[in-house]
Amino acid sequence: MVQIQLPDINPFRANLKKEMLTVAQDTPVSVVIQKMNRRGTDTALVVNGGHLAGVFGGRDGVAAIASGKALAGVPVGEAIAHAAVTLSESEADNLFAILDAFHNHQTHCLVIVNSQNRPVGIITPASVQERLTPCDLLKFLRVDEVMETGILQASAESSVRELVNLMYQSDAHCVAIVESGAAGCRHPVGIVTERDLLQFQAQNLDGEGASVRTIVSHPVIVAAPQDSLWTVHRRMLQSAVRQLAVVGDGDGQLLGLVTQRSILRALNPADWLEVATTVHSSRSQCMSELSLQIAERQQCLHQSRETQSYNLLDNFGDLICCYTPEGILTYVNRAYCEYFRQPPEKLLGSNFLSLIPEGDRERVGGQVAAVATTAGIMTVEHQVLAPDGSRRWQEWSHRAVTDTGGNVTEIQAIGRDITDRKQAEILLRQQVERERLLSEMTQRIRRSLDLDEILNTTVVEVRQCLDIDRVLIYQFDPDWSGTVIVEAVAPQHPSIKGRKLSDKCLSIERCIQPYTRGHVHRVEDIYTAGLADCYVDLLSELQVRANLVIPIFQGEKVWGLLAAQNCGGPRRWQDWEVHLLQQISAQVSIALHQSYLYRQTQQQAHREQALNRVIRTIRNSLDLNTIFQASTAEVGRLLGVDQVSIYQYHPAARLWQGVADYRRHSQIPDSLGLEIPDRDNPLAAQLKHLQVVRIDSTESLQDGVNRMVSANFPGAWLLVPLEVNESIWGSLSLLTLGRNHPWDVRQVDVARTVADQLAIAIHQSQIYRRLQLANQELKRQATIDGLTQVANRLRFDTYLHREWHRLKREQQPLSLILCDIDQFKRYNDTYGHPAGDECLVRVAQALQGGLRRPADLVARYGGEEFGIILPNTTEAGAVRVAESLQTAVEALHISHVASDVGDWVTISLGVACEVPTIEGSPAHLLKSADLALYQAKERGRNRYYVDPVGCDRLEKSG
Ligand code: GH3
Ligand code: MG
Ligand code: MG
Repeated sequence: MVQIQLPDINPFRANLKKEMLTVAQDTPVSVVIQKMNRRGTDTALVVNGGHLAGVFGGRDGVAAIASGKALAGVPVGEAIAHAAVTLSESEADNLFAILDAFHNHQTHCLVIVNSQNRPVGIITPASVQERLTPCDLLKFLRVDEVMETGILQASAESSVRELVNLMYQSDAHCVAIVESGAAGCRHPVGIVTERDLLQFQAQNLDGEGASVRTIVSHPVIVAAPQDSLWTVHRRMLQSAVRQLAVVGDGDGQLLGLVTQRSILRALNPADWLEVATTVHSSRSQCMSELSLQIAERQQCLHQSRETQSYNLLDNFGDLICCYTPEGILTYVNRAYCEYFRQPPEKLLGSNFLSLIPEGDRERVGGQVAAVATTAGIMTVEHQVLAPDGSRRWQEWSHRAVTDTGGNVTEIQAIGRDITDRKQAEILLRQQVERERLLSEMTQRIRRSLDLDEILNTTVVEVRQCLDIDRVLIYQFDPDWSGTVIVEAVAPQHPSIKGRKLSDKCLSIERCIQPYTRGHVHRVEDIYTAGLADCYVDLLSELQVRANLVIPIFQGEKVWGLLAAQNCGGPRRWQDWEVHLLQQISAQVSIALHQSYLYRQTQQQAHREQALNRVIRTIRNSLDLNTIFQASTAEVGRLLGVDQVSIYQYHPAARLWQGVADYRRHSQIPDSLGLEIPDRDNPLAAQLKHLQVVRIDSTESLQDGVNRMVSANFPGAWLLVPLEVNESIWGSLSLLTLGRNHPWDVRQVDVARTVADQLAIAIHQSQIYRRLQLANQELKRQATIDGLTQVANRLRFDTYLHREWHRLKREQQPLSLILCDIDQFKRYNDTYGHPAGDECLVRVAQALQGGLRRPADLVARYGGEEFGIILPNTTEAGAVRVAESLQTAVEALHISHVASDVGDWVTISLGVACEVPTIEGSPAHLLKSADLALYQAKERGRNRYYVDPVGCDRLEKSG
């Protein structure tokens, strides 16, 4: 049996681009013709801004030449007579469609356009013929069956111009050049084609005068009517001609032409199908009809060829069938039977729709039914049920055959398997979907800082994209247990969101550690994957049947897992699915990192605010207690530690004493007043070297002192020295109870900053204290008499004024004594001024010592005069005081040889007393006392006198 190989059509497209000559629509026709000539092509695509405006072919060229215009001035866009016949890229893969287009449009050029309607290539009869070698088909055809008759003829004596006009007017592609022979017989001497004329034009020869002979270069190639088309085809290829003349056997008379188009027509599988199926359907009809049909066919076809055509269809690689308008198969070729692995007798008589899956049947049935109402080819893609139970994709071209009355008698179809292409398309679609998913996710991550939203949307979309039962994200805890934090699950399966998995079965070495190395856990079916029983139990309890798990990293560390799970049944994971999940996981990592940075920034801002609060508190107060209390509490809350204490170092006592304390809860022992020995204390030694001490766990402590302390304060310690005036003042001590707590840089930084501020505060407070003392001294000095060290006049005045007003409110008596050393001038004169000063000091001390009540005040009133203020003292009381002072001074026994009053220094005293009134005043009281003093002097000195306007007018002398 002969084998027919229909060629792979793709090379048409693949090779077409280089054959394409493209010109802009304003290019002059003369230029276009020259270009075509140089390229050896018959057609030029005329474009307008990348879009196809038309095709300029030989016929247009001939018409342009015939018009007699100067071709240099005619834009090619104006020389195109017909719109271009276009084919889509997929149609260009379908030989059926190509051939049909040539036949239907009577064109020499099909333009392939892409989805944007831009030309990507052309198909010409030549390009089809050059690539088609279906020798078997051609061998069954004879030249006289396909040759074109009624050929335009011209004499070799004609001019080129005449020829051009002739071709243009007759709308012919070529002219046979003949010479008349014997008995009016015309012999072909050459053939002139449109191409020859364009070539001639391109060489700029003068068409008017030139004879046709100049362009009929090669001797004409001839064929006999009974030659096989195969022979002719080979001869054409060998001689590189596009047509040859058919001449009569005996006389050499021109009978017709065979062109590339004739060959193409012969190759049309649809025609072959028609031939074959007619024969076939004839057989299934009654005998008389059969003989009638055969008789009809015999008029144009040889019986032997019909049978052979029928057999030939069996050798097509493509599937071919015929069916009634109701869908009943009336013919199937061998490829069809082999495809469905069924004998023809089983297929014939059945409805072809039964081979199509139920879901697709109605759609395909509807589309095919429409074939009957449209002339032309209907191409339908659908799935079929392959004999192995799988579903495969096919593409079918259907066309209706009508009888002479226009009724559809049957439908012919040619089809092929396109499963591979479909799968490629599906893969492409999936890839597009995947890329969309990833790009949306990237966008979302860029837009949003809301990690929850990102994770939730991710699982939902991944589930949709993979069309799977459950997608989840699982986050590890520090101990490698973990929780399902987000999930998207099909409604019919249980949700495991919030589930904490800490199963013993999930051993760290076996189940977790591989993820840290980026391992992908890919299980098609948990029951056949050889998993540990307990793990299978756990997964089946979670209704997981197929599991695909990808680690999610945060930096170098595994943060969690992204899992896609099938609950309903096993699932074979595709590589692209794994790849997609890996890409998604990488995106989640980015989102995690971003959210981590965001949180850090927020925490940083928060920390700075808290730190500012601490610093403000420290700066706003000079009271160390307030500062210590506020700052320990703020630091404790800021760093989330359990206790913050301040210890003060007492070098003399060699101990550290707790002076401030913040505790998170009252169960923690108080450190206030706690004394920690400095001796044999290595941590204290470090602090004294101004080093920060970090103890992540007190269990590591070796020395006796600190082990003892840690009995009450077990956990992690952070001790920061408080350095004041370049030496150790104490420490800021942080405690985190109980667990091993590695101090992080951030905490240490905050503690250091606070310690620095505290040290400043302590230093300021020390300075302030000194300042306070100095001020007190200044104040004291301002009110004290420098020589006698009793109060000075200023103090006297202030005190008198204050007491006068106070006692006015209380309506209590106020007494005043003014005293003066008797004949002191003489004393100075006798003993000298320094001795006088010494005397003044001793008198003042005697006066000071003579007073009993704390409220009583002695002041140096001026020179050798003193004033004594006695609040809440009656005149009688004041007199008693005056007496005792007089005695006390005399009792000093300070020699005064120059005195008229006695041997020793004496004093005179004036006493006044008042209950202050609104009318009265301190000045008035002072005046009274002064008058009384004057009286005491007057009356002989060394005595007191009481002013009579006082409380109880009384005079006493000593
Ligand atoms: P009388 O008994 O009347 O008070 O006589 P008197 O000499 O004490 O009084 P007078 O007012 O004449 O002299 C006061 C003297 O006190 C004059 C002055 O030299 C002396 N004096 C005043 N202030 C000081 C002082 O600060 N040191 C010494 N050494 N003498 C003083
Ligand atoms: Mg005096
Ligand atoms: Mg005096």
